[in-house]
Amino acid sequence: MMLQGKSAIVTGSTSGIGLAIARAYAKEGANVMINGFGDADAIERERAGIEAEFKVKALYSGADMSRGSAIEAMVVEAEHAFGAIDILVNNAGIQFVSPVEDFPVEKWDQIIAINMSAAFHAIRATLPGMKARKWGRIINTASAHALVASPFKSAYVTAKHGIAGLTKTVALEAATFGVTANAICPGYVWTPLVEKQIPETMQARNLTREQVINDVLLHAQPTKQFVTVEEVAGLAVFLCSDAARSITGAIIPIDGGWTAE
Ligand code: NAD
Repeated sequence: MMLQGKSAIVTGSTSGIGLAIARAYAKEGANVMINGFGDADAIERERAGIEAEFKVKALYSGADMSRGSAIEAMVVEAEHAFGAIDILVNNAGIQFVSPVEDFPVEKWDQIIAINMSAAFHAIRATLPGMKARKWGRIINTASAHALVASPFKSAYVTAKHGIAGLTKTVALEAATFGVTANAICPGYVWTPLVEKQIPETMQARNLTREQVINDVLLHAQPTKQFVTVEEVAGLAVFLCSDAARSITGAIIPIDGGWTAE
């Protein structure tokens, strides 16, 4: 129960990596605010299930991470409910695959807003409290695409490189306040985000589904395996531990060796 008495916001946690991180924090005793979109009944079952299983407070916010005012309101709501925010995980993200010359402008704006600017808004709202209490953990879910590019993912790659820069800057600003900021960079994890990009990649690269899975996704990772949501959640828990006190400003791959090549 390493996080007993702590409270966390995990954005984009109604599925995939974010949900695994929220559950892992609750398992360690933290109160959690989950966030994201999806079926209302399924989200409520998940929220109530976390409370019942781990005996913590679990709240849900439907705040849209493309809107700065909604993000600020989410942070205020969580601070009122929990008393403080100790851990912020900026994890909400979307993907779109298309050649840059055909990339819809509104998709570009949406990806930059949700995958990058949302973290700025959430950090801006939570950091003052963390600094005042001299403890805080900020974790940004970046991607292997924060370190290397792939064709047809211009907005995603740009946003993930941007979040790496934000992470390092915030780490420097918060370093003497007991607050760390790190970016987690997963390789491919089998989640709805990856499933959605398969048909888009088939079209952009003129490949079959099997070719996309084997020759694009798994090919990128020397281990030839998808990373699991539990592995990413384990790293997010470790970064909140005392043993990780001196890890800050780090851009940490968890990508089956992808970015080592
Ligand atoms: P996912 O689709 O399972 O989860 C995305 C979450 O973000 C969902 O909860 C969704 O409701 C939420 N979301 C989307 N738009 C939102 C908005 N406007 N406001 C609030 N919430 C919103 O995908 P995932 O793979 O778990 O992705 C989580 C993060 O991990 C993303 O930042 C993604 O870029 C990153 N990532 C994923 C992979 C992968 O292979 N799956 C690899 C590297 C990084």
